[in-house]
Order: sequence, then C-alpha cells, then structure tokens
Amino acid sequence: MAWDLVMRHHNEQKLIARNTVAELGPLWHILDFHELEESTPDWLRAARPVVEKGYLVSQWTALQFAQNYRSMLFGRPRLPVELPNPLGTFSAPQIPDRNRQIAIMVSLKVTGPIQVAKKTLVQPAGSVNEAEAMAAGFSKSAGAAIRHVLNGGRGMIRVLADADELALGVAGVADEGCCDSCHFLETPILKKTATARQMDAIAVGHDACVCSARLVY
Ligand SMILES: [Zn+2]
Repeated sequence: MAWDLVMRHHNEQKLIARNTVAELGPLWHILDFHELEESTPDWLRAARPVVEKGYLVSQWTALQFAQNYRSMLFGRPRLPVELPNPLGTFSAPQIPDRNRQIAIMVSLKVTGPIQVAKKTLVQPAGSVNEAEAMAAGFSKSAGAAIRHVLNGGRGMIRVLADADELALGVAGVADEGCCDSCHFLETPILKKTATARQMDAIAVGHDACVCSARLVY
C-alpha cells in the first residue's frame, strides 16, 4: 500500500516533466536559427515561467506525497509544512529564490541557443543542417528543464528529512532505464550515519533525469 503511494508519486513527477517539455515545445520556435543571439531573450522570457511553474508544481506534489505517506504509515498529525498550491488562482507561479531563477536561465541558455550556435561554429558555414541543429538544441534544453523542474520535488523531500523527526533518512526512487548513479541512490541514506552533504545527493538530478525521492522510515 505504502509502496503504491511511492510509485504514484514517481509517476506524477514524470508527468510534470512530460508536461513541461510539451509546454516548451511550441516556445522553441521563438528562437530564430539565423538570429540566435537576437531571439534568445524573447525565448528565455517565454520559457522561464514554464520551468518555474514546473518546479513549484513538483515541489508541491512532493510535499503532498510526503504528508500522505507519513500519515498512511503512522496516522500521526501532518508535518507543519505548508506550501501554496502553485496552480491555485491566487499564487503567482514564480520561484522566490533569485539564485535558482538565474541558474535556470543560465542553463536553459547554455543547453539551448548556445548549443545550437556551437554546432554552427565547428562546421563550415552552409553545411549545418538547421533542422538537426535546432532539434538537438531543443532536446538538450528540455533535458536541463526536466532537471530543474524535478529538483523542486527532490529538494522538498531532502528538506523534509530534516523537518520530520520520524524519518530515518532519504532514498532515491530510480526510474526504469535510469543511470547507475541514480540506481545507487536507491539505497537509503540514513541521518544517523550520513553527512548533510551525502543526503543532498538525492536532491539534485542530472539533465533529463526523472528519478524521484522518498523519506525512509
Ligand atoms: Zn535519474
């Protein structure tokens, strides 16, 4: 039963990642292959709120999961942690943390337009396949967006590990087909033996990583 909740949450996070990429798809056309530098600010202005909303939804979804998982196991009162619903009418879908906002913009830019520009530099002019270069840039920047968005949920679980006195630690929930380092994180990292830094490992994914996290009781 409890494991069903873990899997449902994992699938919810994957859906959040998929929705983010679906929303970013049409915005990619704002970038003009022939005017990359000039069109980049407009593209970033459109893409950034999509990633920020995804991040907040991921964070909120992870909190709901953690609360439900805890009360299913212990029936105890909920943790005194609240977040505004990012899809609610009155909340602005904007990340309050300015550093994270900047990190998102920088990595979207590096994996998107700068990646496309690099291709045009290494190959002689005229020989670059525009459609291919643009498709590669979209897929890279979508991978970076997925990492940032799902770090919202993974980071939430990491924070809750400190807030929840019943939690023994954290563990990653690896997606099928994920990499070895993500599988490695499935082994619980326990508060009594691990450093804070070691526990931080579950809070940050790599590009295109759709693994989630859970508390260990
Ligand atoms: Zn992963």
